[in-house]
Amino acid sequence: MRVTLFRFSLFLVVVLFVAAGIFSPLNNVSSANAADQYNPSTCGNNGKKVLLVFDDYPPSLKKFKALVRTAHRNNIGIGIAPNGKYVKSGRVKPNFARDRGMLVVDHGYEHVKFTTLKYKQIAWQVTRPQIDSNYVRPPYGAYNDTVLKVFKNKGKRNCMWNLDPRDWDGKTPEQAAKFIIKNAKKGSTAVVHMNHLGTKPNLLITIKKGLAKRGIKMCKPWTKPTPHKLPPTYCS
Ligand SMILES: [Zn+2]
Repeated sequence: MRVTLFRFSLFLVVVLFVAAGIFSPLNNVSSANAADQYNPSTCGNNGKKVLLVFDDYPPSLKKFKALVRTAHRNNIGIGIAPNGKYVKSGRVKPNFARDRGMLVVDHGYEHVKFTTLKYKQIAWQVTRPQIDSNYVRPPYGAYNDTVLKVFKNKGKRNCMWNLDPRDWDGKTPEQAAKFIIKNAKKGSTAVVHMNHLGTKPNLLITIKKGLAKRGIKMCKPWTKPTPHKLPPTYCS
């Protein structure tokens, strides 16, 4: 009887090991799939952290570098989504941000509503060589079926947001920072602007501390340069 029980226990142990062997790779597969899924409303932010993506243009190249450097020194991964014409004029250096592990997003060559353009014109806006990112944030967040068709054909991902502090709308950068600290959730991606919130880079530190008090982390920069062709996840 004792021997039988012993054998039965051994059998159970073997069954448990086999089950663990079968199920743990399955779990790994499902989490790998989650990282492979691109979510347009969070723009490469696929975890529980908060991502800020700064659009448009900075007041100067000096201010642009200050924003990226402050993010980098404080271990905060941000996105920058400039218009190509500001890269051409030298006010934005995408590789300065890439070299520091930041997310670089195309915002069209000009700041025009893609929904007012024809297929070829939209394609022109997102294939200028200045930014050359496979993430594109359409100006004003305006897109339609034609825009999405261009994106699909050109291998671009639509980079939207799920939190809008409206930093351009008569708010001080401090008020916009407060809005983010109060309203961001785990997994929020906020649309902000280099020429508004981005003019006061130290507010990144304020936001990081404020969110930490609510138990929310910000994205981190990559420890290596980010590529032009980004994977579906920038921040996990
Ligand atoms: Zn914009």
